[in-house]
Amino acid sequence: DVALDVRGLTKIYPDGTLAVDDIDFSINDGDFCVLIGPSGCGKSTTLHSLVGKIPVTEGEVRLGGVDITDAPTYERDIGLVFQDFQLFPHLTVGENIEYGLQRLQVDADERAERVTNIVEMMRLESLADRQPEELSAGQKQRVALARSMVLEPKLLLLDEPLGDMDYKLQKHMERELLRLHRELDTTFVYVTHDQTQAMRLADQIVVMNDGKVEQSDSVERVYNEP
Ligand code: ADP
Ligand code: ADP
Repeated sequence: DVALDVRGLTKIYPDGTLAVDDIDFSINDGDFCVLIGPSGCGKSTTLHSLVGKIPVTEGEVRLGGVDITDAPTYERDIGLVFQDFQLFPHLTVGENIEYGLQRLQVDADERAERVTNIVEMMRLESLADRQPEELSAGQKQRVALARSMVLEPKLLLLDEPLGDMDYKLQKHMERELLRLHRELDTTFVYVTHDQTQAMRLADQIVVMNDGKVEQSDSVERVYNEP
């Protein structure tokens, strides 16, 4: 089944910049999709359009068959993990994870259960009472992921989440991400400009260049065909 279907998506910024130029792609349910391309090719603009942070100029976005092109962000069922994590500095790890559930007015028992489950899955038990400033980059990333995943989105977008980490930590976090992807059964869209990362992570690759989608296919076909 198709999870995400993007048709004719175009974004022209108010200053006239054509950042995304009539792109089409779709992602199958449960796939780990990597959106790749050089800096300035329109990856962030695409991501922000999917999540509803910026209005699109033209085109259609469907999630699970539902047209969400003009839906408000909070109704989209899409999680976004930022490059710099953006944890709330004044809340503990546990409170950071619970925050979105409170805003959705999920009742206290269910909140506690969902937070406990995700904390276990992410192996954050020993960190639940810590403040974000006490955490390493890898730990912060796990908290940022937990905070998105606890809302059980249909689609999780990750905006270069391993960009600032050293190589060893990056490899470790890649393995964690792949494990989580298997366990959570969620569709991932992971943005990067790093081809080696894409080859390690992706089921499917969407290659962008200069505002266009150049290729959208399995990792084998994108990188192994002549
Ligand atoms: P990437 O994420 O691949 O680096 P972006 O989506 O950030 O690419 O940018 C695509 C193009 O749109 C670039 O030319 C960039 O300068 C431009 N751009 C991004 N944001 C804005 C904005 N708010 N206003 C005008 N131009 C923008
Ligand atoms: P990223 O690619 O990770 O989004 P950038 O440094 O490209 O980071 O962009 C940071 C912010 O600046 C974003 O909000 C983006 O929309 C905005 N931006 C990027 N390029 C331009 C531009 N040419 N004009 C105006 N705003 C821009």
